[in-house]
Order: sequence, then structure tokens, then C-alpha cells
Amino acid sequence: MIRPLSCCAGLAVLLALLPVRADTATAALPEVRLFTTGGTIQSKGAHRQKLMEYSDGKVSPSELVDDLPELRDIARLSYAEISNIGSGGIDTPKLLLLAQQINAWLAHPEAAGAVVTHGTATLEETAYFLNLTVKSDKPVVVVGAMRPYTAVSRDGPMNLYNAVRVAATPAARDMGVMILLNDEINAARDTTKGNTYRVDTFIARDAGPLGFADSDRIVFYRRPTSRHTAHSEFDVAKLSTLPRVDVLYAYQEADDAAIKGFVAAGARGIVGSGGYSEPLAALKGQGIVVVQSDRKGSGRVVKSEKVAAKGQVTADNLPPHKARILLRLALTRTTDPVEIQRMFDEY
Ligand code: ASP
Repeated sequence: MIRPLSCCAGLAVLLALLPVRADTATAALPEVRLFTTGGTIQSKGAHRQKLMEYSDGKVSPSELVDDLPELRDIARLSYAEISNIGSGGIDTPKLLLLAQQINAWLAHPEAAGAVVTHGTATLEETAYFLNLTVKSDKPVVVVGAMRPYTAVSRDGPMNLYNAVRVAATPAARDMGVMILLNDEINAARDTTKGNTYRVDTFIARDAGPLGFADSDRIVFYRRPTSRHTAHSEFDVAKLSTLPRVDVLYAYQEADDAAIKGFVAAGARGIVGSGGYSEPLAALKGQGIVVVQSDRKGSGRVVKSEKVAAKGQVTADNLPPHKARILLRLALTRTTDPVEIQRMFDEY
């Protein structure tokens, strides 16, 4: 059975309830909903050796789950298709729709958890967005693949199987949104795609993984300490858009051309990426919040009186693209840099 769900911004969501065995053992299984958005995990190449050139949007959610009958032994699974596109196409309406649909699902008492399929290129941005906007402590796991569905030794099925195992596990409650590839369970906030090609691409450089999805059991070794999900103050239930925030890449001899472009395009915030302070300092008093992050991908941008005196905010160890996500949500509540610094300290 497939039926459309009502949703925002003219986007359609297809919901399917998969046939389940009508025995008592199955009825006792945890209920997990799969939200599909696309990416390599749902892509097909021309032949089995095609590892890099393949087409997004070829594998439907039903094909994905029918390929893995083992899922029916670990969860009662339903699915909702948000999109079937490469992750470069995930935009604000789709992010909001995803958060709203996951929140609606997890509010059901019978819901145990949620899994999201996603392209790996921007997976960490969606995962961090959900980490800040999901209003439940039930597990939410974002999963992708580095090899297409058609490849020799594809990684998607094992990743999806493990993601459903984690979403169905009570031990995964209140861990914030998690990223699962290559058997590793990583925290959305701390994790970045670190390699363009290898299957062990997701890495939490400063913090390490939360745990592992191993064959004997799901094992956790730490908990995230930043505010997330049920503890977050951000609420996107009634939002249909978010403030524009741009990221300024730092490099030798960069001038203010990009900043002028961002301001002309209506940016309410700009995230810097290190070593580029003068043109950004000139924005003081123009109603644009500046957050200082860094392009290196690990380590903290520590708080300093000098930066605060410029009316700017420091991003701790959030990389620029994740600082952008937090700044967009922060700007839905305030434009006060002191209050926004408090949010960057807590989330
Ligand atoms: N093209 C893919 C994307 O949607 C890449 C991936 O999934 O790894 O990001």
C-alpha cells in the first residue's frame, strides 16, 4: 500500500506500509520508519565495476527494502519517500519536510526509531540539522553508501541493515542523531566525510565514534555531551523557510567580492573559515551575524575577547558548513551575537 502524505512546500511524500508476517513474534518487533532521500545508496551504475559514474534516483525505497528480507527479522518497517536525488539537491524545503515528518512519526507511541537514506556528500549537514530539530529521544540514524547499489561488494545493504538495527535498539535512545556507515556509529555533530572515495569515509576527528554495529550486538562507548534532539530549543514545526547564511572560504589574496555577493543575495549571516578577518569585521553594524569557524576540519576556534568585541561569534569545533546550519536555526530565534555565542557553546 502506498499513499501520499500531506506536507509542506508542494513536496510529495509517499508512505508505504510493508506487508508483515502476522505472527506474534513479528508483532512484537520494534517499529522503524525509513525516510528515503536518495544518494549513492539508491544509485545504479552501468555495470558492476562502475564505482564512481552512476545515476542517482534509480533505486526506489521498495527495491531497497525488498533486497534485504533480513530487515523483517529485526523490525516492522514502513517507509516514506521524501525525494530520490543526489544530496547536492537537498534544500531548505526538503530539510524542513524531513524534520517535520520524522517528528510526526516519532510522536506515535508505537514508533521505535527512524532511519534516513542520504547521499554522503552533504549527509552530515542533514544529520546535524536533524540533531537540532528532532523533538524526540528515540533513535534517528542517517545512512548512506560509498558504492552504488549495482557495484561489486556494495556497502549499502550492510549499512542499511545496521542502521535499522541501531534505530530499533533502546540503547540508542538519547544519543542524538547518528550517522552509520562501515559499521561505525557516529554522532551527527562531531562527524564529517573525510574521504572522497573509501568506504570508511565518515570520521569524528576530535571525538571518535559513539560505538559500533557489530554482528553480536550494538555497542556504545560514549554519549554526546552537546545539546541535541529532545533537549534542543529549536522548533521548525511551523517554519516554511530559514534565514540565508553563506560560507566564506578562506584563501590567500581573497578580497571582499564574495562577501558583497552574499550581502546582495540577502544573507543574514556569514560563516568565515579562518584567517580572513578584516573584510568580515567591516560587516559590524550591518545586521549580519558573523561566525568564525575554520577550514581545517578539526580543532576548536576558541572564544576571544577580540572576536567578541567585533560582535562576532566563535564556532568551537564545528566546521563551516555545520556552523552554517546552527546559525540558520539560531537566527530563527535571535540576532544577538551574545545569545548566538551561547548557542554555539551549547550545541
Ligand atoms: N552523489 C552522491 C550524493 O548524493 C554521493 C554519495 O551519496 O556518496 O551525495
